Amino acid sequence: MFDASPVLWFTGLSGAGKTTIATEVRKRLLTAGVRTELLDGDEVRSTLSSDLGFSRAHRDLQVRRLGWVAGLLSRNQVLVLVSAISPYRETRSSVLRSLPKGLEIFVSAPLAVLEDRDTKGLYKRARQGEIQNFTGVDDPYEAPDSPSLHLDTSTEALEECVGKVLRMLSKECSIDVF
Ligand code: ADP
Repeated sequence: MFDASPVLWFTGLSGAGKTTIATEVRKRLLTAGVRTELLDGDEVRSTLSSDLGFSRAHRDLQVRRLGWVAGLLSRNQVLVLVSAISPYRETRSSVLRSLPKGLEIFVSAPLAVLEDRDTKGLYKRARQGEIQNFTGVDDPYEAPDSPSLHLDTSTEALEECVGKVLRMLSKECSIDVF
């Protein structure tokens, strides 16, 4: 049997840069001929998890579903990038532990920066009370204690973040795309 492929799990607040970085890393991997799939939390919520809301139980179920799909793909030698807020530390850790090669990537920026960026206009709507249970505003986010990698997108440019992820893949998994 072949070994399972890595799962890169991008966690962090909305707008932190998870999908932007994961998409760019994926492009670099595809160009190098590495089979990959990106599981975007928002996309999965509109399909597989369209029955779920934003309670703690539903958020945890979303993370478990993402982990399950990621596990299936990774054992078929597809490198998986998961981009999802995944706010609860214990659930995230237990899903990551269940994967043969799960690497946690914490993508962060100060809340003030995210509210200023507000690319999707969601923080404004949350502050105005149009959206409830919005992570970082009126719902908790538990940062990882010891992620495999921590990227601060308020101080590190996109290309720098991508480079760090690729270097980690080279070091931890011997996947070289440079
Ligand atoms: P998330 O997936 O975490 O919700 P997105 O990737 O959808 O966040 O959005 C992040 C936004 O922040 C994008 O508009 C992106 O252009 C911007 N941005 C600014 N600096 C960076 C950076 N260093 N890395 C990634 N995204 C950044």
